Amino acid sequence: MSDACIFCRIVAGTIPATLVASNEHGVAFRDVNPQAPSHLLVIPRRHVASLAEATDGAALGALMLLAAEVARSDGLAEAGYRVVVNTGNDGGQTVHHLHLHVLGGRAMHWPPG
Ligand code: AMP
Repeated sequence: MSDACIFCRIVAGTIPATLVASNEHGVAFRDVNPQAPSHLLVIPRRHVASLAEATDGAALGALMLLAAEVARSDGLAEAGYRVVVNTGNDGGQTVHHLHLHVLGGRAMHWPPG
């Protein structure tokens, strides 16, 4: 837990977020600046700066399953959705606490920008 990390503060409950799911591994909440009709973030409870620093495969797998669970509960499973993990500067990462974007509710484009 880092006081300087906005996502650690969401996990700790010291700043507000619209939570949609939570378990022993992670927390899911709505992105404050949605890029699709449904835009959720799934983060680990433990601070990990990015995918590049991740070492615990079981914890990563649990986050993927939580992403699938919140996609289902947001009604995205049938039409489909996208899971994105921006990593580092070229990846466009702006918050340095690992997070999975779950985007859906519209058709996605490829290649991404
Ligand atoms: P990234 O650019 O991949 O690091 O994504 C960070 C995401 O966090 C962006 O989509 C932001 O809109 C989102 N975000 C930043 N602060 C908050 C917050 N307090 N609550 C919810 N989403 C946030």
